[in-house]
Amino acid sequence: MAADDFAAKLAAEWHEVLIIGAGFGGLRMLHECREIGLDALVLEAGSDLGGTWYWNRYPGARTDTESWAYCFYFSKALNDGFAFKERFATQQQSLDYLNHAADVLALRRDLRFGQRVASAHYDDAQNLWTVITTTGARHACRYLVSASGLLSVTYKPPFRNVDAFQGETYITGHWPKTPVNFAGKRVAVIGTGASAVQAIPIIAHEAAQLTVFQRTPNYVMPARNYVITDAEQRELRAGFDAMVAQCHRQIFAFPMEDSTLAVKDVSPEEQQRVLERGWEAGGFRFLFETFYDLLIDRESNEVAAEFVRRKIRTIVRDPVTAERLCPKYPLLAKRPPLGHFYFETFNRPNVTLVDVGDDPIEEITATGVKTGSREFGDFDIIVYATGFDASTGALMHVDVRGRAGQSLADTWNREVQTQLGICMNGFPNLFMISGPQAPFANIPMVIDRAANWIGGALRHLKATGQDCIEARPEACRAWTDYVQMLLDATLLSEGSKLHSWFLGANIPGKKSAPLFYFGGAPRYFGEIDREAQAGYPGFELSSSRVIGEVA
Ligand code: NAP
Repeated sequence: MAADDFAAKLAAEWHEVLIIGAGFGGLRMLHECREIGLDALVLEAGSDLGGTWYWNRYPGARTDTESWAYCFYFSKALNDGFAFKERFATQQQSLDYLNHAADVLALRRDLRFGQRVASAHYDDAQNLWTVITTTGARHACRYLVSASGLLSVTYKPPFRNVDAFQGETYITGHWPKTPVNFAGKRVAVIGTGASAVQAIPIIAHEAAQLTVFQRTPNYVMPARNYVITDAEQRELRAGFDAMVAQCHRQIFAFPMEDSTLAVKDVSPEEQQRVLERGWEAGGFRFLFETFYDLLIDRESNEVAAEFVRRKIRTIVRDPVTAERLCPKYPLLAKRPPLGHFYFETFNRPNVTLVDVGDDPIEEITATGVKTGSREFGDFDIIVYATGFDASTGALMHVDVRGRAGQSLADTWNREVQTQLGICMNGFPNLFMISGPQAPFANIPMVIDRAANWIGGALRHLKATGQDCIEARPEACRAWTDYVQMLLDATLLSEGSKLHSWFLGANIPGKKSAPLFYFGGAPRYFGEIDREAQAGYPGFELSSSRVIGEVA
C-alpha cells in the first residue's frame, strides 16, 4: 500500500516531511524541503512562529551574536531587505527578522500553530512516522525532522511549596505576551545565567526593590551594544559574503577572527593590553579575539579569568558583593553570558545580591523564599530564571518510539548516542537540528549546516530510489566517544561540578553526559561534509518500496 493511502487508513494527514518547531531551525528546514521539491509541514506548539524568540520575551532578551550574523546565510537578499537596528538584536527585532524571512519565502502556508507534538511513532512495516499532537491532530510522514530547539523546555527547580507564593510568578523562558509591570514592586530573581543577566538590569530600573538569588556567579562580559547607523548598514550589506565565510571558519561560528596568539607568547603587560582590547571590543570578542588557548590551557585561562575578576572588583563598589560576584572556576567552564551593565546594577541602592551557593533555596513561602538558614519575604513577584532541560530535553518530553517500539527517552536515559548529532540508530528517518552531540556555536549557522546536510541526504535518497536512512550503531558509538574525547581536551569538562547545562548537569537526576560537540564548528562542518561526500558510510540506506509503488 502506498504511504499516503496507509496514512488515510490511519485517518492521518500525509506529508513527506514533518518538521517539529517553527523557530530558526524549522523555518530553515522548511525552505530546504521546498528547494528539494518535498512536501513538508511544520508543527508548532506556539500560536506563531519564532521558537526561542517567541517564548523568551523577558525584559532585556536579545541575541548574544551580532545581529547581522544571526540570520539565514543562504540568502544575501534576505539580509539586504532587512534593517538590523542594533549590534545585538532585541527579542522583538529577532522576531521581526524571522517574520520578514517567512514572508519573503512565503513559508506561512506550511506552518501549523497551536500543535504541540505529543507522540511520534515509527512504523517498521510501512517505514513511516505517525505523529499526534496534543489537540489530537494525526499526521503521518516518511521523514521526521526535530527542530524543537536546544533550549525550549523550561526548568523550574523542585523547591518545596512552589505554589504557596501569593504574588506573581514568572519564568523567563515562557514569558507572557503582555508586559509585566515591575514598577514599585519588590521582586526576587532566582538564577544568574544568561537570561537573568539580561533581565536583571532592566528589572532593577523599574522595581522598588530587587533581590537576586545567585547559586553560581558567572563571567559576564560587556556586550557593548550600539545602534546600527545607515552607513554601517550599507557596510554590513556589502560585507555579507565575507561575513558568512568568516562564520564558517571561526571556532564558534561567530563573525570574528580567531586569535593566533597564546597567552604565554607575550609578556604579562602585553597580556593585559590584549585582554583590555577584547573587553572594550565587547561581546564574545573578549574570548576569541584575544588568545586562542583560553579553553584548553588552565594557566592561560586563569590569566583571563583574573582579568575579569579585577573588572568586577573595579566596577562593583561594595567589596563583599563584588567578591560574591567573582567566579572562582575556569572561564568558559559554564556558558558565559553577555551583560548590558550587569555588574553596574549591583551598585544600585535597590538591588541586593543573596548568595545561595552554600545555603540552598529549599522552599517557597506565601511571601518569599526560604533557604536552609534564612527567610526572605515580602516579595510581590518571583522571576524564575532557572534555565532549561537543554538539548535532549525537548525530544525526551515527547513520546518518541523508533524501531520495534523502542522509546527514545529510555534509550537516552541509558546513554545519549548519535551519529554526527543528527541521527540515531534505532530511529530511522528521524533527523535532529541542533540535536545532542552537534556543536554548541552560533546557533543559526549550526542550523543552516544541519538543514543543508539533511537536505543533501534526502536528495541522495531520492536520487538513488531509496527512502530509509538509519545511523549505524558502530558509527554512533564512535561519534559519542569522539565527542567525549573532544570535551575532555577542554576546560568545559569541569562543568559537571558546576551544574553546566552543556552536560545536562543543571537538572537533578539527569545523567551528566557531553551534550555538545566542542571540536570547533569548522571541523564539524568538514566532518559532516566528508560523510556525505563519502556516500554516508556511517548510515544504512535502504528502500522500503515495492515495485510499482508511487509514494
Ligand atoms: P542557565 O544558564 O541554566 O541559568 C539558570 C540559573 O538558575 C543559574 O544561575 C542556576 O544556578 C540557577 N539555578 C538553577 N537551579 C537553581 C536552584 N535550585 N537554586 C538556585 N539557583 C538555581 O539558564 P538561562 O539563563 O536561561 O540560559 C540558558 C542558556 O540559554 C544560556 O546559557 C544561553 O546559551 C541561552 N541564552 C542565550 C541568550 C542569548 O544568546 N542572548 C540569552 C539567554 C539565554 P547555577 O549556575 O548554580 O546552576
